[in-house]
Amino acid sequence: MVVVMSPDATDEDVAHVVEKVEGVGGEAFVSKGVVRTIIGLVGDIESFHHLNLRTLKGVADVHRISDPYKLVSRQHHPDRSTVWVGPAGHQVPIGPDSFTFIAGPCAVETAEQTLEAARMSKSAGATILRGGAFKPRTSPYAFQGLGVAGLEILADVRRATGLPIVTEVVDARDVPVVAEYADMLQIGTRNMANFGLLQAAGDSGKPVLLKRGMTATIEEWLMAAEYICQRGNLDVVLCERGIRTFEPATRNTLDISAVPVVQATSHLPIIVDPSHAAGRKDLVVPLSRAAIAVGADGVIVDVHPDPETALCDGPQALLGKDLRDLAQACRKLPPVVGRVDAAELVRTS
Ligand code: PEP
Ligand code: MN
Repeated sequence: MVVVMSPDATDEDVAHVVEKVEGVGGEAFVSKGVVRTIIGLVGDIESFHHLNLRTLKGVADVHRISDPYKLVSRQHHPDRSTVWVGPAGHQVPIGPDSFTFIAGPCAVETAEQTLEAARMSKSAGATILRGGAFKPRTSPYAFQGLGVAGLEILADVRRATGLPIVTEVVDARDVPVVAEYADMLQIGTRNMANFGLLQAAGDSGKPVLLKRGMTATIEEWLMAAEYICQRGNLDVVLCERGIRTFEPATRNTLDISAVPVVQATSHLPIIVDPSHAAGRKDLVVPLSRAAIAVGADGVIVDVHPDPETALCDGPQALLGKDLRDLAQACRKLPPVVGRVDAAELVRTS
């Protein structure tokens, strides 16, 4: 941490800051410039926060140098992590060595639709099934999901296809029931900063897929992940799903640079959701190619056997040629950037 004194700060003001810092066990290194004095602080950053240094006489500014997050940071955990998803005997990796293709319907609507979407996804090469039973909708009049009945369908489809399941939880009270059925809990963009839900998901013992809040900075997103990790659960995968910008041509703007930025600062795996970023099926394949090229650890994509009748996000759901194109991209491009298909690294013991 660095304290910048104002040009008119007196020697007494500087001495007062030093005294305060030393009072909580820190060290203060004073550097006097022609116009300003700056003071470098070494020690426990949390105790410095309690000093309210900005309020002291003569202090112009206080800057943080190290990351505000700890458990998700590469500063203390230089190697990138792999998160394993699925029951013992069939765990799919999401991490730096592999590329994980996740696909499925936006929402679980019926047993037939979910099974068909899962079969389509599996034949396209997907190794994890997505599907929402609890849907966080912008409108309270829109389809809210089947709830526990949807979880039952997902469990049946897992039995039929062998695909582990990631599904969203929107309310902390539902975490136990969702964790009972799901292999991975998803926290959606609208709940990224719902700290009670993050903590409950952290307590669940299941891996968590944490989507970026649509108006969240990368730092806020990593701080949200820190809430989960603080509960002793480091099995967190981040998901870039587009952010709100001034551009209306796509539903959200996919922040592709978030992938290498996150990988430089955090050890957590990061995947991309081109479906919810674009909101349009014609962009899903090109954005998936971009995600693979930029080094994402996977993609998560909406698939539907009959998008015209979909109760949620039909315009972005893939089938037919689009899905075949995506399958080809997910097969051919990851090896170019040094990754193997997650299917090859599945942990069976
Ligand atoms: C979803 O993946 O079903 C979803 C609702 O995504 P997001 O939270 O990114 O909008
Ligand atoms: Mn959706």
